[in-house]
Amino acid sequence: MTRRERILTELGLTPLWLHRRRLDDPGATLESPPHATSHAALPQHRTAHEVRTVEVMDWAEMREAAATCTSCVLHEKRKQAVLGVGDEKADWLFVGEGPGAEEDMRGEPFVGQAGKLLDNMLSAIGLKRGNNVYIANVVKCRPPGNRNPAPEETLACQPFLDRQIALLQPRLVVALGKVAANTLLARGGTLGSMRKTVHDYRGIPLIVTYHPAYLLRTLTDKAKAWEDLCFAVETMSGLSSAARNVD
Ligand code: SF4
Repeated sequence: MTRRERILTELGLTPLWLHRRRLDDPGATLESPPHATSHAALPQHRTAHEVRTVEVMDWAEMREAAATCTSCVLHEKRKQAVLGVGDEKADWLFVGEGPGAEEDMRGEPFVGQAGKLLDNMLSAIGLKRGNNVYIANVVKCRPPGNRNPAPEETLACQPFLDRQIALLQPRLVVALGKVAANTLLARGGTLGSMRKTVHDYRGIPLIVTYHPAYLLRTLTDKAKAWEDLCFAVETMSGLSSAARNVD
């Protein structure tokens, strides 16, 4: 069995791969930067002086803030917020769209069928969930009926993702699907038009590929996703070489 066949088998995708807050005191007069008031993410026992914006939160504060956030309607039907999972010092960051039913139940992103496929995709390029890999979503609460998050919901939730990326400082971001790509790149456009390009997210290289849930429905695009994974590995290798040359 060739290396490619071994990888395809590991992916479980053969033979298709072969073919290719607001302060709870409304009267508060504290002047706060953006998001300190837009995210009702703070426990009610906190005073105005203790308010910290998402932009300066640490991981523990973000988990607490997301769990109590009511900044968009998605909080209404969630069982829990799903901030992310993995190595908080990871070089690789994979960003999906939003939690599904199983993720909402378990509090971890990508744990259903799409999660299994993502794990296989990671394994195919020598990566493993939790080991130098962090996985997050654009929105932290489940969109009902697995619909796409609305623009106002992604906008409301973006400070969490931005802060996660600021804390992680990953070497490469992989946007899984059009919603993640459009949110992170702050642009419209089809997924196809964004593939095969190294984009820039605040100085961090970003590439775009298909969302695993889409690949489960559209088997014929798995070959393209494989191309994207290879492109991601090449991009990361290039970054490593460049870093060595600088050293
Ligand atoms: Fe808050 Fe994000 Fe959940 Fe909306 S999706 S309630 S902004 S944590």
